Amino acid sequence: MIDIDYYELLEVNRNASFEEIKKAYRKLALKYHPDRNPGNKEAEEKFKMINEAYQVLSDKEKRALYDRYGKRGLENQGFEGFSHSSYEDIMDFFESVFGGSFGGFGFGRRRDEQKYPLDLSLEMTISFNEAFFGTQKEIEYEYKVPCNACKGTGAENANIITCSECGGRGQIFYRQGFMTFSQTCPRCSGSGKIAAQKCNECKGLGYERVKEKIKINIPEGIDNEDRIRVGKKGNIGVKGERGDLYITFYVEEDEHFVRYNDDIYLEVPVFFTQAILGQTIKIPTPRGEKELKLPSGAKDKQQFVFKGEGAKNVRTGRVGNLIAQIKIEYPKKLTNEQKELLEKLQESFGIESKPHEKKFESVFDKIKSWFNK
Ligand SMILES: [Zn+2]
Ligand SMILES: [Zn+2]
Repeated sequence: MIDIDYYELLEVNRNASFEEIKKAYRKLALKYHPDRNPGNKEAEEKFKMINEAYQVLSDKEKRALYDRYGKRGLENQGFEGFSHSSYEDIMDFFESVFGGSFGGFGFGRRRDEQKYPLDLSLEMTISFNEAFFGTQKEIEYEYKVPCNACKGTGAENANIITCSECGGRGQIFYRQGFMTFSQTCPRCSGSGKIAAQKCNECKGLGYERVKEKIKINIPEGIDNEDRIRVGKKGNIGVKGERGDLYITFYVEEDEHFVRYNDDIYLEVPVFFTQAILGQTIKIPTPRGEKELKLPSGAKDKQQFVFKGEGAKNVRTGRVGNLIAQIKIEYPKKLTNEQKELLEKLQESFGIESKPHEKKFESVFDKIKSWFNK
């Protein structure tokens, strides 16, 4: 890579004053600003170089080093220039130089002017059936508007001054041996600007809170931790623009129904005789009653699928299944009469009622032979 002379880049004489350098930088930075040259790689590269040149020539020590030893002299002091820097770093530097004053041209990020994010997030808990079927709800919440007294700056009379800690750069540079390190200025949090005095109305926050009631539509099938966006219902910025409101939903658990993906699970207690006889029983589903036809000899934890009786997926519109899982229950106590009846029932099955005898018959003899040796 060819090193272009910094003075040539800024189109100034080698003995140019700080003011002349700044003026030249301002003119060229404007001309090659990426916002004015979208997609133009050449302009972007030039913009990068101009910023690098200015970073060096605007700094007395760096300029002196550069004048005597060239770029190599700077590199020996740990200065790398912008050749490997990200776009963000360059923009940070650019804005630390001109900051708000550059805003008059209609571009630049000027993130320091906006003291709070425009998008707003809320959390909301809804019941199982509200989520399952969808609903409309009225909510009251608070959003931020710029403080009227300080125009959202957080400074008394909107009087913003350059941070004296970092000289407006937003970064603090310090030296250790021959290395130069930098860190975000703790006083201005990197914005390069601070309030001359905190605004009394908002205590320097730059905003006040406003209450609003809105109706929101909760779509059918919304699931736990799903989020919806309500456009233009967030905070209002200093220029009057409004962000969006994001609502994250938490769905309460139901006593009977459990959602997993789009399927709904239901545990169905079944008495052992019902399972043996294969009876038909009524079960609840979120959309109403259904008949569950148990096969004769249904097993514990056996599952029965009711297609299309689950929850609706808010993204795909696909409807899941209801899965009924049976849980076989046995009597906890028997009356004498029940005991007699069961014994009679058992006898009626003959050898089938003693499957262990049949299975272990030969094993008993085998084990005996092991000890009779
Ligand atoms: Zn600072
Ligand atoms: Zn204020």
